[in-house]
Amino acid sequence: MSDEEELIPEFIPVPAEFQSFATDSLFERCCICDRHLLEDGTQYLIEKAIERNEVVFELAFCLPCQLGVRSEFSEGSLRTLKHYFEERVCIETRKPNLIALHGLDHTPWISHCIFCNQPSDGPEWKQLVALCDGPDLLFTETAPLMICQQDILQIQKIMSKKTKDCMDGFIDDVLGKPSGTVDLPFLV
Ligand SMILES: [Zn+2]
Ligand SMILES: [Zn+2]
Repeated sequence: MSDEEELIPEFIPVPAEFQSFATDSLFERCCICDRHLLEDGTQYLIEKAIERNEVVFELAFCLPCQLGVRSEFSEGSLRTLKHYFEERVCIETRKPNLIALHGLDHTPWISHCIFCNQPSDGPEWKQLVALCDGPDLLFTETAPLMICQQDILQIQKIMSKKTKDCMDGFIDDVLGKPSGTVDLPFLV
């Protein structure tokens, strides 16, 4: 970046789509370790699954907890996921293009699937993901993002049994739902 380029802070206050449906306010605690999330400098992920405009589940978890869960995934699955991303998403251009076109409006980031670019206005299942820092949502190379039902199903198909079992365990423990009833939280 040259010196003349203006540095725009690439974050906004966490918008309504990424606030908790259950409490109607910001997520305050990590769903795994209960750590407080709203201090500046505390980064955390938010994932929501939505079906027919209803929130099916919503989660906020801190980065150490995310790393902990991910460390149980098989290496093969992590490679496959990375490859799935790289084949479909242009990491270098997504963020600069969206910011050039829309400024710091987050809605275009989640109005179309990050993988297939289909709009998300149908009744199907979809997942939203955002990276936040305290009270703010960060614009990263990929997030915030939306994934459509087809891509969620496709990704589930290519994950290893070990990874699927690990995700099922997570769904069981954290969401308190029997495994198999909920599609996997994507980035966990
Ligand atoms: Zn945590
Ligand atoms: Zn898609």
